[in-house]
Amino acid sequence: MPLLVMKFGGTSVADLARIKNAAEKVKREVERGYDVIVIVSAMSGKTNELVGWVEQTSHLYDAREYDAVVSAGENVTAGLMALTLQEMDIPARSWQGWQVPIQTTSAHSAARFVDIPRANIDTKFTEGFKVAVVAGFQGVSPEGRITTLGRGGSDTTAVAFAAAFDAERCDIYTDVDGIYTTDPRITAKARKLEKIAFEEMLELASLGAKVLQTRSVELAMRYKVRLRVLSSFEETDENSGTLVCDEDEIMESKVVSGVAYSRDEAKLTLVTVEDRPGVASAIFGPLAEAGVNVDMIVQNISEKDIGGSPKDVTDMTFSCPVNQVARARKALEDARDAGHISYEDLVVDTDVAKVSVVGIGMRSHAGVAAKMFSSLAAENINIKVIGTSEIKISVLIDRKYMELAVQALHDAFDLEKA
Ligand code: ADP
Ligand code: ASP
Ligand code: MG
Repeated sequence: MPLLVMKFGGTSVADLARIKNAAEKVKREVERGYDVIVIVSAMSGKTNELVGWVEQTSHLYDAREYDAVVSAGENVTAGLMALTLQEMDIPARSWQGWQVPIQTTSAHSAARFVDIPRANIDTKFTEGFKVAVVAGFQGVSPEGRITTLGRGGSDTTAVAFAAAFDAERCDIYTDVDGIYTTDPRITAKARKLEKIAFEEMLELASLGAKVLQTRSVELAMRYKVRLRVLSSFEETDENSGTLVCDEDEIMESKVVSGVAYSRDEAKLTLVTVEDRPGVASAIFGPLAEAGVNVDMIVQNISEKDIGGSPKDVTDMTFSCPVNQVARARKALEDARDAGHISYEDLVVDTDVAKVSVVGIGMRSHAGVAAKMFSSLAAENINIKVIGTSEIKISVLIDRKYMELAVQALHDAFDLEKA
């Protein structure tokens, strides 16, 4: 039997009526002759509620118990989806991660897939079941504990199942009808893309476009999964939504294809650190060990070289997610107390956001950065840190200008027009 993976996100299973609506879509594919693996998220808001309960119960919580709690939302929807399908006379069975068993690493709250053995689910399909409903976002560690995959992880569950079961396609049903040039909630001028290259989607996702979890795009690229994003609230057919695919399947080629943002960033500056071999490693080593996801890094010229100081000293600036600032501060203070680094002050700015433009066309076009900076200047938006790679340019700016910056860049790069 040909097989499809269909994933429904939180808003698509937010209540019983929406689960019914999603089940109708599954039914249609079964009637077309497919076996279907359905991946479900928790009902919208549920995971946040569970995370809140954990944080209220225990400040420095045990990550194993965090996973035990926050994985529960998906279990409810999986069972309800299987029941809904059964009520529609479709033989369906639900699976929690450990029942498959979805084997992951033991990195709690950020686990990665190790293996998805097919045998259990395949047996059910041969027994005549048409649908396997699998709880997204979770797995089981080598120690036999429940793990979760990081926020948005059900997308990755879906792609991993599509790869493991050689699915014809992996359809991600969500609350927008595809992938847009930028978040359609930020500007009405955002344009839906028919196709987007894996590499561009990978950048957009890692720079904050939460429509797909980054890891899901990585897996789709590696295992050549046909990955599609489409609306669970509209009539859809095989041409709906946006296909994430190889670069050479795409005719349209703009220099910049999308704008992404990440709202909750922080900028930290270590003032007056020694400028000597090994200092960056002495700073960023402890940060990495403390689990701080450092993003952009800027080191200034040595003050001695500009005649400002008799000593070889400089400032080191970096950015990280705002909820990791406390951890970063502690790691740096501990390193200072242990005598591994020295600095006069740690200046923290928690009111910044990151805005990025992405496009594979940048590889062969100059001037993108200049255009980006001039359009931000025209809106009087000050740039605090700049980061670039082959196909993206990111800037850190004051959070209050984030929407404005996204809109200005969307206009500047003419993304509204195909
Ligand atoms: P789900 O609960 O279905 O997983 P998410 O909320 O995780 O849905 O992702 C869908 C949301 O992603 C959309 O509602 C939209 O606001 C946001 N989004 C951000 N960037 C984009 C983009 N470039 N294209 C489409 N949606 C985007
Ligand atoms: N429910 C989880 C979350 O909210 C996983 C997901 O929906 O993808 O992050
Ligand atoms: Mg999501």
